[in-house]
Amino acid sequence: MTIQSAIAKVEQNYAHQPEFIQAVKEVASTIEKVYADNPKFAEYKVFERLCEPDRVINFRVNWEDDKGEIQVNRGWRVQFSNAIGPYKGGLRFHPTVNEGVLKFLGFEQIFKNALTGLPMGGGKGGSDFDPKGKSEAEIRRFCYAFMRELHKNIGKDMDVPAGDIGVGGREVNYMFAMYKNLTREFEGVLTGKGVGHGGSLIRTEATGYGLVYFLDNMLKVNNETLVGKTVLVSGAGNVAQYAAEKALHLGGKVITFSDSKGTLVDKDGFTQEKINWIKNHKANNQSLADYVAQFGGEWLAGQRPWQFDADVALPCATQNEVSEEDAKALVKHGVKYVAEGANMPLTAEAIDVVREHGIAYAPGKAANAGGVAVSGLEMSQNSVRRYKSFEELDGQLQTIMKNIHDNSKVAGEKYGTTKGVVDYMTGANVAGFVQVANALVAYGYL
Ligand code: GLU
Repeated sequence: MTIQSAIAKVEQNYAHQPEFIQAVKEVASTIEKVYADNPKFAEYKVFERLCEPDRVINFRVNWEDDKGEIQVNRGWRVQFSNAIGPYKGGLRFHPTVNEGVLKFLGFEQIFKNALTGLPMGGGKGGSDFDPKGKSEAEIRRFCYAFMRELHKNIGKDMDVPAGDIGVGGREVNYMFAMYKNLTREFEGVLTGKGVGHGGSLIRTEATGYGLVYFLDNMLKVNNETLVGKTVLVSGAGNVAQYAAEKALHLGGKVITFSDSKGTLVDKDGFTQEKINWIKNHKANNQSLADYVAQFGGEWLAGQRPWQFDADVALPCATQNEVSEEDAKALVKHGVKYVAEGANMPLTAEAIDVVREHGIAYAPGKAANAGGVAVSGLEMSQNSVRRYKSFEELDGQLQTIMKNIHDNSKVAGEKYGTTKGVVDYMTGANVAGFVQVANALVAYGYL
């Protein structure tokens, strides 16, 4: 079974799951050489095995809305691979969630988690529940109902979910409460819990901060820093907020945020005060557009943030948000670094454009791994029942992001194809893949 025939099989079996096919093809396009160097990978059919999740659990979630009406949503947990540790990955609550989206996310998570150097397998889950417009009580009832079913299939050494789009600390706390109630176990079965009842410091900031630590390492390769650099950020959620904050700390000037309705531009740059206002405003489900009345700047309805001169772009919203046209706009506006805060925000065509134009491109599975890395640190703190300080964890996060960067760079130099710029895409895929593939070979065929 070659890599090509594994892809053909995925395309045939899952033609209705385009995001999953896209994620599989992206990894496949970068591992041919490392496959050839390791004949056992073909013999043990490791890629073919990794293209099929261990299992997909699908369930119904019944809950009652504020009017007393019964609502029915779909729920899933994709347990993709536990080759190097318990299944690990977030839960997404968003109307676009379906099995194919969760399979793409779970597939990416396998390699991302391996890159952190921590013992975590890959998984993902979620629901097509839309938290937008729901009351606090409705969200609480939904989270309880979701966990009433999910708890049967997770455990601290089996499968450890966390947050993702639509699932933050509040939702994790509600789900953890139901898990604890049903099982009578206070254990590290979910990460992203509140600090003081099992959560880890810096978990909230970790994905965004980690992204900028990764970027800082990319800049260092060219003897540059973020000082004075203009940064475009998309999204306005957890990843975007803390990426902007860390970029500001390191001397960058962030000039955009965005949401599904449009783009906010502030050419003076977002200060800490302005970012804090956005954090509070979004936490209260208010519109990003209100910013203009408070601080000035401009709200561009229906537009994306890639149309301004800048040095760095950090897409932090969602999958396939950067099209081929958007990528051409980035090239035209002088962007030299693209690091993905979201999972798979660039389409396959957009990736080709940035790579062909000598932009240093860091894929999400490397650049946004800081979130799950601190989840891994939360798991170990839960196990030993001792908690670390913010400073200690921040130091560990910086070290992990540097290691991911350096390992991706080394593997990119050996197996990559881009000219004059580090091939982080190939490097991250190879470095993550080899670790998981070696485990699969060691196990035989289980
Ligand atoms: N959802 C995050 C990700 O995409 C974090 C997952 C976790 O902490 O388990 O990596």
